[in-house]
Amino acid sequence: DERVKEIRRELDMHVSGADVAKPCISFAHFGFDEALLNVIIKHGYSEPTGIQKQAVPVAMSGRDIIGIAKTGSGKTAAFIWPMLIHIMDQEELQKGEGPIGLILAPTRELASQIYTEAKKFAKSYGLRVAAVYGGASKMDQFKELRPGGIEILVGTPGRLIDMVKMKATNFRRVSFLVLDEADRMFDLGFALLFSATFPKKVEILAREVTAEPVRISIGSVG
Ligand code: ADP
Ligand code: MG
Repeated sequence: DERVKEIRRELDMHVSGADVAKPCISFAHFGFDEALLNVIIKHGYSEPTGIQKQAVPVAMSGRDIIGIAKTGSGKTAAFIWPMLIHIMDQEELQKGEGPIGLILAPTRELASQIYTEAKKFAKSYGLRVAAVYGGASKMDQFKELRPGGIEILVGTPGRLIDMVKMKATNFRRVSFLVLDEADRMFDLGFALLFSATFPKKVEILAREVTAEPVRISIGSVG
């Protein structure tokens, strides 16, 4: 309706896709439980960022998303929060298995930043988060993954493959997948197969792996 259009216009937000959930201008309307709302407030966040206002309700509705917004706009939390809710919604949390939420990041620095962000929100649920990336001991990462399993795993593609080969983990339980900074994943040649330039080819890939994605972009970055 008009109000939705107005909110999106004010945020310089462009949304495409059918039957897209309405944006939420406050945390209270996300449908999060008290535990998560409290941690968010404790971190001093007073309102969702632009991308969060639209991406969170869309993710909570179970849709796939291609999200594009500039650095520092809070994209990490925009996927971590719905991921946490998705995991908590599972009928039965079976222990000792691979991750339910899997996040691919192009570099170890980014993987470790996402890990820190995920950890601070996952704590209130007692969910286990791990990060695996190059430049650190494979054996240590193996040991971290192995006993009892984890619910959220962040990693660079190369090291994730190593961990699966070593049978430290498996992706059989994954039902919430994030490709963070997918454009840089291509730059670094992780998916040479798709020899690409951002953003068109990334979107083509995203279309192939996502089901009727909702595309959300803020500003002219996309
Ligand atoms: P991006 O991935 O879009 O570059 P990040 O997810 O790294 O951005 O977020 C940038 C910073 O903003 C982080 O320090 C994060 O904790 C903070 N942040 C995220 N959401 C909010 C919010 N709603 N209010 C205030 N700060 C936020
Ligand atoms: Mg980011």
